[in-house]
Amino acid sequence: MSYFEDRDLAPDPNDDDEAYWANCAQRRLTFQQCGACKTVTHPPISVCPHCQSLDRGWIEAPTEATVFSFTWIHSAAHDSVTRSLPYNVVVVEFPSLPSVRLISNVVDAEPTSLHIGDALTMVWEDIGGGILLPRFRLAADSKWS
Ligand SMILES: [Zn+2]
Repeated sequence: MSYFEDRDLAPDPNDDDEAYWANCAQRRLTFQQCGACKTVTHPPISVCPHCQSLDRGWIEAPTEATVFSFTWIHSAAHDSVTRSLPYNVVVVEFPSLPSVRLISNVVDAEPTSLHIGDALTMVWEDIGGGILLPRFRLAADSKWS
């Protein structure tokens, strides 16, 4: 079952993030890296924000991830998420890649079980149509578990 039941929440790839979503479809979480200055950024964009190079490549995401910040949503701003309340929105950080943070969800968390600094394990959520989303679970070795 999807974290969100409504399929309308699927991403709509554009020229900048089409390769990102294609990599996700192959169960590869990747981030964009500048070919000139090697700065890693997310979300994908066509020009390096550091040196303005158009030379954009991809690197595999680190496997170690933690909760940088989070919130629990208790009031739906759109009908498509009403049945999913309450749900979390998490800012995931990668300790070995401090220039990148990823917005996602921790699918197995309860409002009292999610903390800043929790270790996370990435999981793929197949929402159909060839779209896989990077979601997270609390890692077994989380300092809070
Ligand atoms: Zn650059």
